[in-house]
Amino acid sequence: MHDLSSIKRIPIIDVAKQLGIPVRGTKAMCFMGHDKASPSLSFLKSRNTWRCFGACGKHGDNIALVMEKENLDFKSALAWFAQHFGGDVRLSDSNQPTSQPVTSKAIVPLWPQRDAEFATDPELYGWLLEQCPMISSAKAIQYLVEHGIALEFANHFGLRELPEPKSLRLQLLEQWGAQHV
Ligand SMILES: [Zn+2]
Repeated sequence: MHDLSSIKRIPIIDVAKQLGIPVRGTKAMCFMGHDKASPSLSFLKSRNTWRCFGACGKHGDNIALVMEKENLDFKSALAWFAQHFGGDVRLSDSNQPTSQPVTSKAIVPLWPQRDAEFATDPELYGWLLEQCPMISSAKAIQYLVEHGIALEFANHFGLRELPEPKSLRLQLLEQWGAQHV
């Protein structure tokens, strides 16, 4: 996981190298292409910043470096960091909404431990979902709980009713085997 401050701590030279800038020591030929003989681009490790002392005069932190070199906007630069240095980028320091996790029906790592086995079978979940309409009721929730299906599961997908619990249970068993369910 990266938040903005942890991104800014990624060493500037590591970032430069990842960008394909041929760094020698703390210097490099400027990526803007104006350097002919001597490198104008300088990296200041202690502040984790960079500055071009040549024609373009550009400077900034490691995020700025990615933006300038790759011609990306801020948000895309953060995505670049996620791609090259791993983890998700939380945009909590920007004006982006914070609670928009990118999930698919298959990504549900939030179950309590006892449901771990069940949770590892997204196919089954997907199948289960298809059997269920979008309505909810206390009875449905009760059913989920009684059958060891995490309530988070229901919440995550917006509470789906199990219309005919018994037959669905049978279908589940039929389709997936007792061990799976
Ligand atoms: Zn330059």
